[in-house]
Amino acid sequence: MEIGCLWTGRLWLGANSMLSIKPSNSMAMISMSLQRQRNHTFCFPPLKTSQLPSVSSFIYPHRRWVSNTSASYSPAPLLSIDDSNCSDFEEVELQKQGSPSDFKVLLKGMTYVELEEWVKSKGFRPGQAMMLWKRLYGNQVWTSCVHELEGLNKDFKKMLSETAELKVLSLKTILTASDGTRKILFTLEDGLVIETVVIPCDRGRNTVCISSQVGCAMNCQFCYTGRMGLRRNLTTAEIVEQAVYARSLLASEVGSITNVVFMGMGEPLHNVDNVIKAAEILVHDQGLHFSPRKVTISTSGLVPQLKRFLRESSCALAVSLNATTDEVRNWIMPINRKYKLGLLLKTLREELCSKHNYKVLFEYVMLAGVNDSLEDAKRLIDLVQGIPCKINLISFNPHCGSQFRPTSDEKMIEFRNILAEAGCVVLLRPSRGDDQMAACGQLGKPGPVQAPLFRVPEKFQMAVNASPR
Ligand code: SF4
Repeated sequence: MEIGCLWTGRLWLGANSMLSIKPSNSMAMISMSLQRQRNHTFCFPPLKTSQLPSVSSFIYPHRRWVSNTSASYSPAPLLSIDDSNCSDFEEVELQKQGSPSDFKVLLKGMTYVELEEWVKSKGFRPGQAMMLWKRLYGNQVWTSCVHELEGLNKDFKKMLSETAELKVLSLKTILTASDGTRKILFTLEDGLVIETVVIPCDRGRNTVCISSQVGCAMNCQFCYTGRMGLRRNLTTAEIVEQAVYARSLLASEVGSITNVVFMGMGEPLHNVDNVIKAAEILVHDQGLHFSPRKVTISTSGLVPQLKRFLRESSCALAVSLNATTDEVRNWIMPINRKYKLGLLLKTLREELCSKHNYKVLFEYVMLAGVNDSLEDAKRLIDLVQGIPCKINLISFNPHCGSQFRPTSDEKMIEFRNILAEAGCVVLLRPSRGDDQMAACGQLGKPGPVQAPLFRVPEKFQMAVNASPR
């Protein structure tokens, strides 16, 4: 059912009531011509993530930047999420078609190995690549424009100013919550806005929470970002620069940023290529040098991508669990209709066998009357049996239009105690920054057309009806 316009596409509700976007005619024409160039068949609908050409090709027809892990578009219905990643190749094609001077390479989209190769391909020594890398990420420098690059060869700087872009985000504003949490809003080159949160902590453990997508396709029913639907993936450079910006803007105010969590806008593993690459850049020991254990990628449970992440990355993993039965999880986290709880936990059990000294973090947002009963606590103990893990119990942060209520503090403590008595490592995570909509599940700005809310299962009607809407 078509219910209105969203962005430059049109929003449709499919038979399964998942969010999908049908591209407008102009987008279709551009993408069809791109497809014809490659002699591929192209048709709408149905759309599959893997079949779509890059949105950046048609959103930014005059785009200057070239990234080998670029923004990509995956507006397919949730149940069409396939196991492939969302990377694309269109911009590389565009680079070949245009004049080289029309395009600039995104330096923060490259791993060190790629940067070194690129520098060599321009006729410079690899040593110049390391000097550049250190000025981008190391030694508290965080250069954001070529003129600030000190100590580099003059010809090398000239080449950089002609062919490379150091900065991909523009600061829009910083909001400070009463508890000191900062929400940073960045404008992207296409005008879309993303949010990054810096959470200071007394014990010197400052965390930056970064976004991996604009909006999110997963439509978790308790999450404000999910109401937006997916607008696009962030590039590697856009992801990395959030951490660089947070360090350079706020280090003097809140102290050094020690932890990075991919828990901002978006499902990180739905943008798995760019996220794995960004994580690699964040932990490079000559650059930002975050400890891999202090860089945490969170997922709602995309099983194939989760397997890939565990095999390819040394960074930490958080799984947003939030329910102890398929019935509840199917409702509040529709990804569970594709990858059931049993499969998700079995996969973790199997994959973690080969990881040494590695614990997954389970996140459990507590929703009054929905997932916070004593039976839930007992089921949760059984579910995580055999998985090296910690459990974070998170207080639900209400937002405009939310149908849920937070579990009371007393009940959260009771729930925590049951888990702890059974031997689980369990923490209560207090809400941070909610007076500036900077808390978990509160990021983003849904437009007038939003992802659908699902039918509430009969036995939870009371819990939901009791909530403010
Ligand atoms: S909780 Fe995470 S995965 Fe779910 S809709 Fe929100 S941003 Fe997406």
